[in-house]
Amino acid sequence: MTVPVHEYDPQEARSLIEEVSERSGQNLLACYQCRRCAAGCPVAEETEYVTPDRLIRRIALGDREGALTNELVWRCVSCYTCGTRCPNDIQTARITETLKKMAKEAHLEPLRPRIAAFHSAFMASGVRWGRVNEMEFMGIYETKTALESLKRMDLKAVAEELKAQVDFGLAMFKHKRMHMGLQMAKGRKEIHRLKKKAEQRRGK
Ligand code: SF4
Ligand code: SF4
Repeated sequence: MTVPVHEYDPQEARSLIEEVSERSGQNLLACYQCRRCAAGCPVAEETEYVTPDRLIRRIALGDREGALTNELVWRCVSCYTCGTRCPNDIQTARITETLKKMAKEAHLEPLRPRIAAFHSAFMASGVRWGRVNEMEFMGIYETKTALESLKRMDLKAVAEELKAQVDFGLAMFKHKRMHMGLQMAKGRKEIHRLKKKAEQRRGK
């Protein structure tokens, strides 16, 4: 397998590390590559060797493409194990979250489209109501996924997905883990305000 060689550019490296540090709220420069984070990551075997330390290394080297398009960004489950182990309190979950947003803003095709659709439906519902409403969130996610399958004329995938989700929904109802009505958090206006402020800061 040929591994593409990244040409180091100090200016690009500085710009990328500053952008990710500022947006994620993590001090990436504190990382001294001890790899404690890598040892506990539950998805490390599925990320083609991109562990939290290696992701940070890519950012520090200014490898924008490598930082935005890799399996860890899409497979990170935000368990915060790496951050708990890190002697410098670096929370990679916040970095992967930031990189997802940056990849979307750069109009890059997500490596895992279904995870991307899940993530964006989750965020939309959470920001709108101040908490995630399962019915709305799953509705948005399933519609997006079904439309993607229909675009490929994959009717079998649509039918299988529908069946799986109906079974899943019924099991959730049975265990009282799914609610029919819309529930709103008291502080949702504050969440809207923070979102607007963040967008204004990024000049959106
Ligand atoms: S544990 Fe922290 S300091 Fe060590 S490699 Fe991971 S992120 Fe860097
Ligand atoms: S937060 Fe993400 S990167 Fe960190 S250990 Fe969990 S899955 Fe791995």
